[in-house]
Amino acid sequence: MDLDCTQCGGKVPIEPETDFLVCPFCNTSLFVELRGTVLHTIIRPTLDEKQAAESLTSHLIDREIQRPGQYGFRMIYLPFWQIEWPTRVQAVLADHPPELGMAEPELPSGSQIPARGDEAESKRFTAPIIQLDVALDLTRDQARSDEQYKSARLVHAPFYIIEYSIGSHSFSAFVDAATGAVYPTSLPTSLSTARTFKAMCMAGGMVAFASVVIIFSPSILLGLVALALLSVPLTFLYRLGIRR
Ligand SMILES: [Zn+2]
Repeated sequence: MDLDCTQCGGKVPIEPETDFLVCPFCNTSLFVELRGTVLHTIIRPTLDEKQAAESLTSHLIDREIQRPGQYGFRMIYLPFWQIEWPTRVQAVLADHPPELGMAEPELPSGSQIPARGDEAESKRFTAPIIQLDVALDLTRDQARSDEQYKSARLVHAPFYIIEYSIGSHSFSAFVDAATGAVYPTSLPTSLSTARTFKAMCMAGGMVAFASVVIIFSPSILLGLVALALLSVPLTFLYRLGIRR
């Protein structure tokens, strides 16, 4: 049995146990699904590693996390099902590799081109784990169970996996190589939170020390100085209380 090429209509012989076929006539990469062949497109990366790292840095700085160091880069193409329903187009991430962690990347809106069978990037394609049927169920309008989709395609979108360090800890994030959108797989504690915690500890310590001095002070003068010093951490803690 042969399958039809989605691009040129040519007959493509089925190879056993392969998800992806290459049309021998037009070199289009096709995905083999239960229903037959599915159009397979890719989005081209528009950001280089340096620009992706800049996106990540500004994402972290916006969240008051310090500038990361020691970058490591890897690129993968994540699979998405893009389904055209009569009233809308929806996309579903078709694989969730473990390195994604808590990240939920979205299909970038960049322009798509048919995937070619001979391109080097095809080695970085990850096969869809979620079947098209599941993606259809996920995106179908629940109020209209008889709704028919118009078309479905498999899209591979490029993402940088950036490993970076902050202090002695390492983290990673997915950065959309077409839009620069950042999807952290884990996020370091914001520096301001760490600073606030340190300041609270110091203020608490000062209050305790000043109280001891006041209570056990041998002279009234020392007691008054300690009382004046006490106002500094107390004001800080009071302000902190108002802000929360
Ligand atoms: Zn073809």
